[in-house]
Amino acid sequence: MSDLRLVSRENKKHNSVVQVGSETIGGKELCMIAGPCAVESEQQLDEIAKGISDLGIKFVRGGAYKPRTSPYAFQGLEKEGLKLLRGVADKYDVKIVTEVLDTTLIEEVYPYADILQVGSRNAKNYQFLKELGKIDKPILLKRGMSSTINEWLLAAEYILLGGNENVILCERGIRTFDTSVRNTMDIAAIPLAKELSHLPVIADPSQGTGKRSLVTPMSLASIAAGADGLMIEVHNEPEEALSDGFQSMYLDSMKEMVETLRSQAELSGRTLNLQQSIKELI
Ligand code: PEP
Ligand code: MN
Repeated sequence: MSDLRLVSRENKKHNSVVQVGSETIGGKELCMIAGPCAVESEQQLDEIAKGISDLGIKFVRGGAYKPRTSPYAFQGLEKEGLKLLRGVADKYDVKIVTEVLDTTLIEEVYPYADILQVGSRNAKNYQFLKELGKIDKPILLKRGMSSTINEWLLAAEYILLGGNENVILCERGIRTFDTSVRNTMDIAAIPLAKELSHLPVIADPSQGTGKRSLVTPMSLASIAAGADGLMIEVHNEPEEALSDGFQSMYLDSMKEMVETLRSQAELSGRTLNLQQSIKELI
């Protein structure tokens, strides 16, 4: 018997729907999560959160604690960033997705986040995954950059085994021999993960490509492949961004992107989860 016991499609035939307050992820509606790679200032976050909530997007992402390859790179505003995220959550009535870097920070991040993100670099931190199994908030589990699909699903198994069934899988690209992209977006992983597991699967084409011009095409491909949602990095001034500006969408181009994605969602028999009143405007 496979060790994919709890996450397996064999264990549960129907799709799991993760409840995030009043919102759901994994149903007919595709969840849209957008925001900066990192929270940088009150003004930066407010401008971006306003822009995306004006488009009807209900989930704002932003890192307060950033896992940076270089210790000299911007590490995030930490607690101050968490407070700013909560501020825009209340002001614009949006849900917050933010990364928790390790076990010692779960307690700190928990009250500020609606969804706790586990980064690619932590996908094999098993003690941490066990701790996340003990909490009652949804976990967005990025695929490790060198994790096989089986390893990614086993990481989810750790969280479910701990008692937390609210796991959203996120394909974010893998490291391959090709250096022309930051990561190789593994589109086939999306339908395969859905075939093997009942958990919702979303895609992060921003980390998945590392290149702004590839984000919309890979978003379209992800929806066509059956993704349950997208997580997109967007910035008010990408050239000035303290992290991942080169892969961040311009705020101004988000409306056009949402329109494009909406048509693709319809082709796939889905709809985008946008604020109702705005859905009609676009
Ligand atoms: C991010 O979402 O900004 C991030 C650091 O993601 P990943 O863990 O996929 O690299
Ligand atoms: Mn990023």
